[in-house]
Amino acid sequence: MDYDSKLAGHLQEIPRSGIRDFFELVIGRDDVISLGVGEPDFSTPWQIREAAIASLEKGETSYTSNLGLLTLREEVCRYVEDFFNVSYQGDGECLITVGVSEALDLALRALLNPGDEVIFHEPCYVSYSPSIAMAHGVPVSVATKKEDGFSLRPSELEKVITEKTKVLMLNFPTNPTGAVLSDEDLEGIAALCVKHDLIVLTDEIYSELRYDGKKHVSIATLPGMKERTILMHGFSKAFAMTGFRLGFACAPKPLIEAMMKIHQYGILCAPITGQVAALEALKAGEPVYREMKKAYHERRDYLVRRLNEMGIECHSPGGAFYVFPDISKFGLTSHEFAMKLLEKEKVAAVPGTAFGESGEGFLRCCYATGNEKLKLAMDALERFVKTL
Ligand code: PLP
Repeated sequence: MDYDSKLAGHLQEIPRSGIRDFFELVIGRDDVISLGVGEPDFSTPWQIREAAIASLEKGETSYTSNLGLLTLREEVCRYVEDFFNVSYQGDGECLITVGVSEALDLALRALLNPGDEVIFHEPCYVSYSPSIAMAHGVPVSVATKKEDGFSLRPSELEKVITEKTKVLMLNFPTNPTGAVLSDEDLEGIAALCVKHDLIVLTDEIYSELRYDGKKHVSIATLPGMKERTILMHGFSKAFAMTGFRLGFACAPKPLIEAMMKIHQYGILCAPITGQVAALEALKAGEPVYREMKKAYHERRDYLVRRLNEMGIECHSPGGAFYVFPDISKFGLTSHEFAMKLLEKEKVAAVPGTAFGESGEGFLRCCYATGNEKLKLAMDALERFVKTL
């Protein structure tokens, strides 16, 4: 059968994830040190696992409300108010989803008509551009620069806004650069969103992992923004709960209702065990991730120091768990550099181009990896660059 003629045309134009391609080379090789996958090396804290186990023991194995357990939605709103300083109603303005991934997909599908333009800052999380295209939107990227600490400058954003722009996607702290926004940039971006009547999808998944004693500020808290923002957050990163597949979206009621329509027909509800675990995570709050965050902070400082000492320029990222060193001076493309590093020193790091063209010349190293492995990886990288 000619399967190509059977598959949806717009899907065929979407490339496979650059991360996947790279990691298929590494899967099953235990001789490789991986700085690749953006996943905590810690197991979910015991207190959270215990709540999930107890729930299973009680026989809680049913569907929940499509929106998610009301107790969880109310706890989410309490947490969001405490942590982000913006208030939502658990009953109507909150939807429990299968990770931030589902929240993102729902938001895009709920908002976009074919041809609507969606702006996002690049380098960015691998799913943004394909998710926009799969929702029949037009992805429009704004390149962020090393000189700006990979922040999104309002002046650069304004250049790509057109009459067709409907949505701006934000992710600070950013995967893959660890970038954060200054108050000034955040205010400038918010002013443009109001001026051009844009909806903002803000992916806050790394917001607890903000370092140097600084606190994350969400765009939803700025004047005029809550009404035009879908705040998306999840449990995968700070709470080390990737496998539970739990996230949420908070937004004005009409937006949540539209997302809910797609969610209820496509997914029904997020898994109940994950919801119970998420409830425990929120009740526990900061103490339950404090030690993991401290470890990430120390590892960031270690990697940035080692990289700069070996002559690789690397800014100190304000958040998330990635460093994004500049390897352009070695005269190899990001892909060539990553492949050679893997071949010669058995260290896997992701070529910057997996996160968009503007990632050329960079490498993403995830430091959600044990200290010993990080040291071995840095020693190996140091040996490798001496040969170039
Ligand atoms: N958003 C960003 C920026 C990410 O880096 C990731 C995972 O790496 C996700 C969303 C996916 O999150 P979840 O596990 O909640 O679906």
